[in-house]
Amino acid sequence: MAKDLYELLGVHRNATEADLKKSYRKLAHQYHPDKNPGDKASEEKFKEISHAYEVLSDPEKRVYYDQYGVAPGTQGAGPGGFGAGAGMGDIFGDIFGEFFGGGGRGRTRAVAGEDLRYNLTISFADAASGTSTKIRVPRWERCEACDGSGAKTKDSIGTCANCRGTGQIRMQQGFFSITRTCSRCGGEGKVITDPCTVCRGRKRVERERTLSVKIPGGVETGNTIRLSGEGELGEYGGPPGDLYIYLTVEEHPLFRREGQDIVLDIPISFSQAALGTELEVPTLNGTEKLKVPAGTQPGHTFRLRGKGFPHLRGAGSGDQLCRVLVEVPTKLTSKQKELLKEFDCLSKEDCTPLTKGFFDKVKEIFGDKAAK
Ligand SMILES: [Zn+2]
Ligand SMILES: [Zn+2]
Repeated sequence: MAKDLYELLGVHRNATEADLKKSYRKLAHQYHPDKNPGDKASEEKFKEISHAYEVLSDPEKRVYYDQYGVAPGTQGAGPGGFGAGAGMGDIFGDIFGEFFGGGGRGRTRAVAGEDLRYNLTISFADAASGTSTKIRVPRWERCEACDGSGAKTKDSIGTCANCRGTGQIRMQQGFFSITRTCSRCGGEGKVITDPCTVCRGRKRVERERTLSVKIPGGVETGNTIRLSGEGELGEYGGPPGDLYIYLTVEEHPLFRREGQDIVLDIPISFSQAALGTELEVPTLNGTEKLKVPAGTQPGHTFRLRGKGFPHLRGAGSGDQLCRVLVEVPTKLTSKQKELLKEFDCLSKEDCTPLTKGFFDKVKEIFGDKAAK
């Protein structure tokens, strides 16, 4: 489902930090949204490689990724937990300040919104049937009061005195002249003199949104559902991030999942196994009749076709495997003991061929003495 982060960056698993940075710079240059305006595929690719770099360039996250094959989410990622995912803004500032800040035209760069992670726990039955649910997601949204400008009125935006409106600061370093993004206005060339009272100049407000999520039947723990564009807002016209829903499927007190099959252990008595019986077996959709023929052995598995989990991709479903456990009674009355002893005396060898076969072989190999 998730792409390998090393593969995305085109590096070996033992790549050094310098290797990672070099490869990332090359790819980022190629796929940067500014270079490919309106190209959705490039934008997607750019986000993927940025995320890969964000994880692998952090030694702690890299160790985690190497061990578990997934990027670490937020701390305290318990059920219903919630937090920001990739710190996209940081890398953009770090690396893109170097490439794209040098233009000297005071152009602000688009910053993609952060991806968000939401942990959702669903029941075993819902994982099989599929379900839809509503989740409440707090996220930053554009402030409507100031239309995202951060200023109280149109007149409360002034020219940045630090860069004189260019958004860039030129510095002399030896022979080189370096241009940096103005730290006071963040490259916008404008400063807010009277901030919006609703967002206090932050241009964004935190809101809780209710989103509908459709979960297909057949999902399992570790599956993710991506709600494209439902992450944090982008800045300076950058695309919004995505919302990733990480699924955890609860255990069931009776059923166990094995691939697409559901395994159910059913204890029956010795006499039921010997005489045969008909059982009412629970499935995820009501009960099913199961005929246990006379002489059923412990551990025998009966298959209820199509009663398992549906395949996530493609048609059809797994089966329900009903495994019979023959329970030996642990407490017997004296009457029961008597009857069992009588039963034993009446038993002929040919009704237990396994036992007969075993002792015949022992006799053959070790002689008469060992068989007793
Ligand atoms: Zn400035
Ligand atoms: Zn505002």
